[in-house]
Amino acid sequence: MKIINQLLNKKDFIDYLESKHFSRGVDKIILHHTSDSIESWNGESSILDYKKTYESKGWKSGPHLFIAPEGIYLFTDMNIQGVHANDGNKNSIGIEMVGNYDIFFPSGCIWENTELVLTSLLKKFNLEIKDIHFHRRYNAKKSCPGKAVTKKKIREMLKLC
Ligand SMILES: [Zn+2]
Repeated sequence: MKIINQLLNKKDFIDYLESKHFSRGVDKIILHHTSDSIESWNGESSILDYKKTYESKGWKSGPHLFIAPEGIYLFTDMNIQGVHANDGNKNSIGIEMVGNYDIFFPSGCIWENTELVLTSLLKKFNLEIKDIHFHRRYNAKKSCPGKAVTKKKIREMLKLC
């Protein structure tokens, strides 16, 4: 599996997205959580662990972005179809928020980075908030991206202006 494995801050992500040419249609964004605690996140070594785990499942690609407290990791190139949400993989960008959001909505740097990524992707692909989907829509056995993450809350928290 080929991954980009690059950590960007918010400004770098905006620049990356602005200069990126997309050869693939994107009509939705699919949110996930890693479901492990933020404390167990170990930066690039966690990224490489995920790569190994996905490879062991025989996946050719994974989610596109990981939102960590320290920034935004480019994982699978957004021009390649990801593997992260069953029927939702086609024409989507898959985003993993580090942490477990079954009880609390993401906060601090995780939410700030997620908010920036969501608003810039919506703009880039001319999408609306309704085009942000949750993994659990494609896999009823999962609560992903966490029970505390609801459409209502996303609408409240995204400052679109
Ligand atoms: Zn998920």
